[in-house]
Amino acid sequence: MSQQLQPTNGIHEFKKRMKSFTKIPFRLKDLEPQAEESRLCDYCSKLKFEVDSFVVRSQDRQFRQSDEKPTQIDTSHIGGLAAESFVKQEQRKKNFENIPRYLGRLSNIRRKKYCPFCRLVLEISDRPLDQRAPSQSRSEDAAVYAKWVIDGQEEIFIDQAGPEQQYVPRTRRVLIYSEPQAFKDGYVALLNESAPFKEFFGRRLKSHDLLEPDVLQSWIRTCENAHGQECEASLVHPDLMLSPKNVLRAIDVDNMCVAEVPPHARFIALSYLWGKNFEQLFTTSESLPRLSKPGALLKERLPRTIKDTIKLTRMLGERYLWTDSLALIHDTGFQYHDDWIYARAHLTIVAGSGKDANAGLPGVREDSRMWHQTIEEVVPGVKLMVSHLAEDYIATSQWDSRAWTFQERMLSRRCLLFVNGRVYFQCRRATFCEDMEMPSPNGWSLDSIDMPTRIFREKPFVQFTSAVELYTRRDLTNAADILEAFGGVEQVLEKRLNVTIYQGLFEQLMDSSLIWESSKRLVRRHGFPSWSWAGWMGEIQWKFTESAKSWIQWHYTEDRVEEQHHFPAQLVSRIEPPVPWQRHRRRIARKLGNNSNVAPLLHFDTIVAYFSLIHPQPVHKTTISPLRKRLTGPSALSTVRPAPADPGLLRTGIADKNGQWCGTIDLDEGWQIRIGVPLKFLVMSRLSCFAEEEISLWRDYPFFPDAAMEEIERFDYGVYNVILVSEQKGICHREGLGRILSSALQNALEPEPCWQDVLLG
Ligand SMILES: [Zn+2]
Ligand SMILES: [Zn+2]
Repeated sequence: MSQQLQPTNGIHEFKKRMKSFTKIPFRLKDLEPQAEESRLCDYCSKLKFEVDSFVVRSQDRQFRQSDEKPTQIDTSHIGGLAAESFVKQEQRKKNFENIPRYLGRLSNIRRKKYCPFCRLVLEISDRPLDQRAPSQSRSEDAAVYAKWVIDGQEEIFIDQAGPEQQYVPRTRRVLIYSEPQAFKDGYVALLNESAPFKEFFGRRLKSHDLLEPDVLQSWIRTCENAHGQECEASLVHPDLMLSPKNVLRAIDVDNMCVAEVPPHARFIALSYLWGKNFEQLFTTSESLPRLSKPGALLKERLPRTIKDTIKLTRMLGERYLWTDSLALIHDTGFQYHDDWIYARAHLTIVAGSGKDANAGLPGVREDSRMWHQTIEEVVPGVKLMVSHLAEDYIATSQWDSRAWTFQERMLSRRCLLFVNGRVYFQCRRATFCEDMEMPSPNGWSLDSIDMPTRIFREKPFVQFTSAVELYTRRDLTNAADILEAFGGVEQVLEKRLNVTIYQGLFEQLMDSSLIWESSKRLVRRHGFPSWSWAGWMGEIQWKFTESAKSWIQWHYTEDRVEEQHHFPAQLVSRIEPPVPWQRHRRRIARKLGNNSNVAPLLHFDTIVAYFSLIHPQPVHKTTISPLRKRLTGPSALSTVRPAPADPGLLRTGIADKNGQWCGTIDLDEGWQIRIGVPLKFLVMSRLSCFAEEEISLWRDYPFFPDAAMEEIERFDYGVYNVILVSEQKGICHREGLGRILSSALQNALEPEPCWQDVLLG
């Protein structure tokens, strides 16, 4: 009887639900699985999900400060409940942070659809890999791990004599990653509905389609009011800003026409990709009178991105919108804008989704995006959601891969970035996302981790190297624009740091500037000197924060060798050379009387020595983002992984006259055929030791000489930076940068090390 009735009941139930669907607007909540279908699997239940796990309590903080390693739990002096709570506390601290917890193989996790946490893990693992990174072997059944990491932190300002900044941890997220890496790392965060306070926790979206203008406005207001001058002050020095060359025009969104912006009025700037062969409306001297009439733009066909940005400008309560197509007069072909337009703008809107001007701003119009936010209640009262770092999305957008947009991003006061169907806010202080609650004004969350504008808070030389490192990761359509597209940031750095930059190098710190290295194989860029990073295509990095010290007096020469230019005084004083100065012939000037080299030459005296190469091997370089190098702690480095071996790159040993290892250098694989041949090296400068990453590779080999082992065990043993050069018509060209033990010069090949007059092209 009851069996017969059931289907009827089912249909009745279904009809009832359909009815309620038509009455109540569709809500995301309905997508949440019912609790009874869900139970945590054995692996996930060990993660001890409770609200408290996501909150850093003051007793956790005290522990972190006093001791890093758990000590023996001795409760002999306390009894009863006190002992119990003490043990609990000790266990608690052992539970948290930086201990990998195995969640099983990915294939097993796929089978556990009943487990709400496994479902969140699958959402992370099924996210498409970064389009710009080399594809990883997805076929492999990777092991998946979870780790508690610190997320939200509160910056506290202590007296000026103390360390630069102090952060107090407030919240945790769960990092999900795989070994070997089968997907991009992601995080699981607690939803603020379950949390004791709101900031730093996940936030339920009101709509999966439209963005929330009041949220965007509150981000901008927080920056204006709480960040103050740090974000408001222009990065561009007033001397450079002076008055704009021409009148500043923009779209007047109230009157829908092109208009002159009154002096000191605020405006929004749009940064977007035009796209190849994309036809759009331009202002010309002929069309300007027409486009200046109120309402004129209502009659024109505008690209979707510009239409959406006009709508957003109104939503934000602003009046003027600058776009290069309409604000500039396009009479003579391509008009590049005033360099500082983004630095002058109150806000930059970045259309980072898609490849052309029709990409639009998803979320501004109805039905322009579909954001499926999965929320799982893993145990009663603990609602969790997946979150990915903001920069993970921003940095993989087409817009952010372009060299020319680097300065637009770096020099803007604040940006609203539309990427991957989401919108992010970024200023010099913070990053905000739609699905995370905004941190308190002095808060720092994981979302700010790879924020490029952070480099302006670093030490001067680090600001410079980080800018180059970030910039050289980008693509340049026209290879010859390498220094030009960096020009805006370069001028800003020069003024800020009170230095000069020549051919992409920091003139007052030439020795350190010259020890740039690659993280991948480099290809020569013609028309630029080999000694500058600008002379090569590929990612550049500096491994050392320590200043290189040298004996070299720097000069450069542009057209004629006889005309020597001196570099400004170096900030690091000169040291004694490893080989005493010897009188030597200045033969170059005569030889190169009619030099027609386009690239400037470095002209200097230094020691030249010969060595050979041994033991070449492919190299796996760990490339740490320049923004994470100086961060410590598990959360900062949690997603750093060694890059796959670059097939075109070799790490080879440098050998002395006894055939013994005495140094290391990374070279293009083409050098494989030169193993064992005497090669010319310029001895450039001194550092206190090898980089750990480069010496660790050699130290464990059986051929590593005992004498070298003894040497590197001494404190401050010293190494020399050496440049391997090739020579053409008396001009040397950089082929690679290596380092040798300071004792190696005594055992160099014949002819023995001597001073030479060097022209480096
Ligand atoms: Zn599970
Ligand atoms: Zn700000």
